[in-house]
Amino acid sequence: MARRVVEPKIRGFICTTAHAAGCAAHVQEQVARVEGKKFPSSGPGTALIIGASTGYGLASRIVATFGAGADSLGVFFERPAQGERTASAGWYNSVALERMARERGRRVWSVNGDAFSDAVKLRSVELLRREFRPVDLVIYSLASPQRTHPRTGQLFRSVLKPVGQGFTSKTLHTDRGVVDTVHLEPASEEEIAATVAVMGGEDWLLWMEALAAAGVLADGVKSVAYGYLGPQLTWPIYRDGTIGLAKKDLERTVDRIDALLRPLQGKAHIAVNKAVVTQASSAIPVVPLYISLLFRAMKERGCHESCGEQMERLFAERLYAKNLPDGAVDGEGRLRLDGWEMDPAVQVEVLRRWQLVTTENLRELGDPDGYGADFLRLFGFGLPGVDPLEPVETESFLETCGGLAG
Ligand code: NAD
Repeated sequence: MARRVVEPKIRGFICTTAHAAGCAAHVQEQVARVEGKKFPSSGPGTALIIGASTGYGLASRIVATFGAGADSLGVFFERPAQGERTASAGWYNSVALERMARERGRRVWSVNGDAFSDAVKLRSVELLRREFRPVDLVIYSLASPQRTHPRTGQLFRSVLKPVGQGFTSKTLHTDRGVVDTVHLEPASEEEIAATVAVMGGEDWLLWMEALAAAGVLADGVKSVAYGYLGPQLTWPIYRDGTIGLAKKDLERTVDRIDALLRPLQGKAHIAVNKAVVTQASSAIPVVPLYISLLFRAMKERGCHESCGEQMERLFAERLYAKNLPDGAVDGEGRLRLDGWEMDPAVQVEVLRRWQLVTTENLRELGDPDGYGADFLRLFGFGLPGVDPLEPVETESFLETCGGLAG
């Protein structure tokens, strides 16, 4: 066993260390908030969350488990501690979540491995058959830089680039607090296709086909994948860029999954979530500056939300709501959770600040400190009640890890 003081080590937009006790406190904080709320009794009894260890997937698993009282299988790709290296944050999050869930009598299992592979799908199906009742809810929340195609073995690497023409924009170096200009060359056809292969809908469909063929889906099953639209400011790099094309492909998959689930009276959805700080969003050029200005504008209006709060509304006011509030579903049939982000008053303010923002006035116009604090919290740093100077156990085990890696 290895107890030691763990500090954040930030390299660009990633942090290479994670704090086990801090990650547990972060999960505990979200669990406590969810448990303080009332959820519809019609929620899922069993949930499968693919991409369950961080960000929106973790928040979904927390709401399913501690809000709706569901048993859950979580699929993710995380690293246990090895020698001097701490485990990844998602590993510690999952260890903490499973302990808290078991304490409350929930059934929880995890599969740690490449969700794009047939092996992980098979292992998940085996566990669902052996350990769970049929699945009422499948959340698809993967964010990955690459995918090995399970049939051809081809490795696809996604890129975050504009499409058609280059894009020059303000951006923020979050590690240094510097507002700078970035120029991004347009993606090649090959890069566009690779990004669609990684982040588009094919793998979601393969998961649903595998689950349906194995007979582990319940009548009335729902499946949800997450998308983002955002304002015009970010369209060249997001909505109209390579990632946006992949998301459009994901959206088109809804019809095929609906057809697959028809015999079960099941339904597939895209939920359009608001921008939040996660490991995935930190990697997108331009977006962290937008998020920093957005957070300030939303906090000033009292409508800022975290991943957890978004997922609470997804469950209580969208997926399992008796009556849908206005604006809950858009003309394309997507569940919208980004209404407060996209509120014209918020967007006008963000745009005004965008035109003015420089390194010197960033603190005045934006919320770089809030961004930085959220970023550190993703890795378990800066949580109240966690002493950063206290040595912490870095090794931990997922007791109900159904394989594969770790
Ligand atoms: P994240 O980086 O926090 O989480 C990614 C998850 O995917 C982790 O659990 C990770 O372990 C898992 N994962 C990655 N590669 C895997 C693999 N090969 N096999 C198994 N698991 C793997 O990301 P996030 O921001 O929460 O994104 C989740 C979804 O939400 C994405 O579809 C993203 O586009 C969408 N979304 C994000 C935002 C945002 O602002 N972050 C906004 C709207 C929608």
